[in-house]
Amino acid sequence: MITYRVDVSDLHQHEFQVTLTVPEPQAQQTLSLPVWIPGSYMVREFSRHISRLHAHQGGQAVGLVQKDKTTWIATCTGRQPLVLTYRVYAFDNSVRTAFLDAHRGFFNGSSLLLKAHGYETQPHRLELKTLPKGWEVATAMAAIKVDARGRGWYEAADYDELIDHPVELGQFWRGRFMARGVPHEFVVVGNWPDFDRERLLADSQRICEAQIAFWHGKKKPPFDRYVFLLNAVDEGYGGLEHRNSTALIAARRDLPQLGKAKDLSDGYVTLLGLISHEYFHTWNVKRLRPAEFAVYEHSRENYTELLWFFEGFTSYYDDLFLLRAGLIDVPRYLKLLSKTLSTVLATPGRHVQSVAEASFDAWVKYYRQDENSVNASVSYYTKGALIALAMDLLLRSGKQGSLDDVMRLLWQRSQGGPVSETDIQLAFDEVAGVDVGTALQTWVHGTEDPPWQALLERLGVAWKTETPSLAQRLGLKVSESALTGIKVTQVLQGGVAQASGISAGDELLALDGWRLRRLEDAQRVLNVSPESTLLVCRDQKVFSVLLSVFSHEGETIGGVQLTEAALAPSAVALRRQAWLTP
Ligand code: ZN
Repeated sequence: MITYRVDVSDLHQHEFQVTLTVPEPQAQQTLSLPVWIPGSYMVREFSRHISRLHAHQGGQAVGLVQKDKTTWIATCTGRQPLVLTYRVYAFDNSVRTAFLDAHRGFFNGSSLLLKAHGYETQPHRLELKTLPKGWEVATAMAAIKVDARGRGWYEAADYDELIDHPVELGQFWRGRFMARGVPHEFVVVGNWPDFDRERLLADSQRICEAQIAFWHGKKKPPFDRYVFLLNAVDEGYGGLEHRNSTALIAARRDLPQLGKAKDLSDGYVTLLGLISHEYFHTWNVKRLRPAEFAVYEHSRENYTELLWFFEGFTSYYDDLFLLRAGLIDVPRYLKLLSKTLSTVLATPGRHVQSVAEASFDAWVKYYRQDENSVNASVSYYTKGALIALAMDLLLRSGKQGSLDDVMRLLWQRSQGGPVSETDIQLAFDEVAGVDVGTALQTWVHGTEDPPWQALLERLGVAWKTETPSLAQRLGLKVSESALTGIKVTQVLQGGVAQASGISAGDELLALDGWRLRRLEDAQRVLNVSPESTLLVCRDQKVFSVLLSVFSHEGETIGGVQLTEAALAPSAVALRRQAWLTP
């Protein structure tokens, strides 16, 4: 059996020591590390953190030749076990790679564990024994023989499974709950002392139970154990889904606080949304998944046009499940939906790139954003969520069915496995009883907005557009403070700022002779003279431009506010109730 021993020998150098044993190596044994981690669609070239790689057989050094950036070949003699030793630098405090210091360790196998080619489908063992005093192990990988702190041997059925179980090491809080008869574990590291543990467990349990019931009714989910690994930090947000666990990172101030059981801060709602999102992925992307992900190719990009479905639809359901689990009420849910709508409507790039293209290009666009991304691309998360919304409302205002039925039909048809875009379209048509797949295709492959306002109104939700802020009217985004002044971070295509010649990175210094400290100062001048002279600094050079807020009235819109329509006819109110009642 392929075995890995991971030691945390040098905490201050942030290096894991890995010993890999291939019991019966091939004459030319290939070894490689993945270049990306499933769920995060970017080539990250994890091998760049490997050093001191050596190979031995029976105490004798074995020749190692590096074939490319992430692949090595060991020339073996005889059938003696091949032993590789190497170190991996681990100092990325995210959910995607690996981290090690004196307080905590964390790793994904894709960052640490070289793949022994030819043995990928065999069971793989992981030894985690020599840890600093008091440290524990938390992972969803099956324990073979471990002590009370989880130190010992773990096993995965194959290499893919091995790297799909992140591991948390250190001294952390661990809580447990059952959801539909399945044990769930919640591990939190980095929390404030007064963190409300019981509330986090109770709220997570409600989300998990609601989702299991959604997919399986009274039956059990397709996993017999689930683990949440949450790293609470000063600033941070994100999650990565795995087959029966997830690694999360969140701001520690967003965790619930003891004695404040009634507080439902925006931060805590965001954290619950993240928990809901990653848990929903347990079905939608880890099992039901793009046909292109039927078998992961670890050495290069894996392209799919379907992330709008697997990320976008998951994003639609994450907040909806907070409502269904009774954690937020309808006004709060509509507020979250308003935010997503406002974000997408403020993205000129939605008229440039379709969500299918955004999915395919995730590797070089969504994950490599710059100041122009807002003009040239669209998020398959947010717009994908709004396409899910549009499809759900389209079904709910028609004769039959809802998006829930489509998701379950797809699950049933694919037996929780790979699906194509055609499968998705056909499932919609079948549930609706009429052709709705064509509308889906238009919204997924085109760049026109679905008629969100009309669809929401049909479900008894009122749409109000807020008065645009000055930044929205100018078509820019800034970072600002009284100390540093105003720096432009984004210039939206087709806006006033762009027409005036303002670029991302510019400092906005003064308007009609008035020094600007914050953008709102400019409003005081523009109130009187809508055409003003703006003093700008770019690369130490100061110049002036004419700013005219009259010149472009085009697409400038403020945010959207959704509320329950007060005077909805009873048939409409019933549809709304069916949609928005837990
Ligand atoms: Zn996701």
